Amino acid sequence: MSNLKLCQGPSCHTYNTKDRLKGPKGNKTYQTRRRSNFYYGNNNFCSWVCLNDWHSIYIEQALDHFGRTTEAKHLTEQNAWVKGYDWHHITDECQHHTINTITKEQRPLTEEQYTDRDYTLNTN
Ligand SMILES: [Zn+2]
Repeated sequence: MSNLKLCQGPSCHTYNTKDRLKGPKGNKTYQTRRRSNFYYGNNNFCSWVCLNDWHSIYIEQALDHFGRTTEAKHLTEQNAWVKGYDWHHITDECQHHTINTITKEQRPLTEEQYTDRDYTLNTN
């Protein structure tokens, strides 16, 4: 079998483009797009339209399921750290860092710390 993924757009098959028309001659139907790679919605949707179709149907359920923001969040010195890097063309080296967007303090990071999604200096 192929490693092709199906677009998760609930109405993908209803957009009658030539590339969606598949099947044996005389019995072709418009079908959900199938590709090895999609560029929208974390590699799950073939187009912005399909991603938006999914949003309009499922966004309320998703928010209820994962929890809604019920109080305003505050950006403080304790949670203002973001990761970044500088590429030095002459030495061909990449230096990773974390910078506090409020205090502007910058600290070096190892590449491992930079790529670790859980690593942060933020405390809340
Ligand atoms: Zn689609």
